[in-house]
Amino acid sequence: MRYLVTGGAGFIGSHLCERLLADGHEVICVDNYYTGSRQNIRHLLSHPDFEVLRHDVTFPLYVEVDRIFNLACPASPIHYQNDPVQTTKTSVHGAINVLGLAKRIHARIFQASTSEVYGDPLVHPQTEDYWGNVNPIGLRACYDEGKRCAETLFFDYWRQHRLEVKVARIFNTYGPRMHPNDGRVVSNFIVQALKNQPITIYGDGSQTRSFCYVDDMIEAFLRLMDTPASITGPINLGNPSEYTIREIAEIIIEEIGASSELTFQPLPSDDPKCRRPDITQAEDVLDWHPTIPLREGLQRTIAYFEAKLSKGTI
Ligand code: NAD
Ligand code: UDP
Repeated sequence: MRYLVTGGAGFIGSHLCERLLADGHEVICVDNYYTGSRQNIRHLLSHPDFEVLRHDVTFPLYVEVDRIFNLACPASPIHYQNDPVQTTKTSVHGAINVLGLAKRIHARIFQASTSEVYGDPLVHPQTEDYWGNVNPIGLRACYDEGKRCAETLFFDYWRQHRLEVKVARIFNTYGPRMHPNDGRVVSNFIVQALKNQPITIYGDGSQTRSFCYVDDMIEAFLRLMDTPASITGPINLGNPSEYTIREIAEIIIEEIGASSELTFQPLPSDDPKCRRPDITQAEDVLDWHPTIPLREGLQRTIAYFEAKLSKGTI
């Protein structure tokens, strides 16, 4: 099959392109390199079934494919808050453009939505029927509300045009090819620990997150894409093992054997206090459960950043 992956040069997108090619598919990767890089897909560039287009999804796109994965959007708080208007445009105009494309070519389309649609959740763990607790005018709103509006568009295209949609609510995902300066907790803590620098905990570190290794996430993407047309989602994808941010710092220090100390900095506004997916639906519908334990995933991620540090590229 021929796939379009928007945001294909990003962290998750590059793993998705790699897996689709390994499974024997053709892949068109679309990216404007806002947060992704050619480096992430350099090893794929000579593959005969791989094609790259530098393109911004806020503008219409004309290609012929069987299936579309829509991942284009900066994902880390620092990156999406850097140009919030562009973030909302990417989510909303981007969704309108890829949905229009899918409608024209009758392609099945997957949306990379997010646990951020639940905001600072009042239901724990988060189930798909929870409508969320999002501040619509806060610093995170450009991303949260952009992604919520994209979900609205996907379901309206499904109801109005019978488009085959698959909406995944992705929880915190980590692994090799995370951007070293994206400010996310796993990349920050690993780079700080590898340099024996202080580990920057925002707030008192009691807020929680649940981290899924990227290979597990990609497996879930492919299973969801292959479900019958009646399965639309939204469906939570993530690893339900929940950790406080302080615990994550301690585990990373231990895995690296670093001498870093913990430092405490102010908590960013609207930072969710807890996050853990209820993945009952993913288990039932996709027969999927994450398989890679946190420490193993962290070891692979640490090896990636260690290699980059030793080459002097971060
Ligand atoms: P990333 O920033 O590494 O990748 C996003 C990619 O989209 C980058 O390559 C970027 O250059 C590209 N992009 C951004 N704006 C674009 C535009 N206007 N046109 C074309 N390309 C554009 O982030 P990621 O972690 O790989 O996230 C991928 C997707 O998964 C995003 O949609 C994100 O919202 C979603 N998601 C990720 C996580 C996570 O923990 N990583 C969690 C929830 C949802
Ligand atoms: N965080 C932290 N120190 C850092 C980076 C992040 O304590 O150097 C915290 C952040 O405040 C949040 C959690 O770690 O509570 C996860 O942050 P991240 O940006 O990775 O993802 P998100 O908040 O979008 O889940």
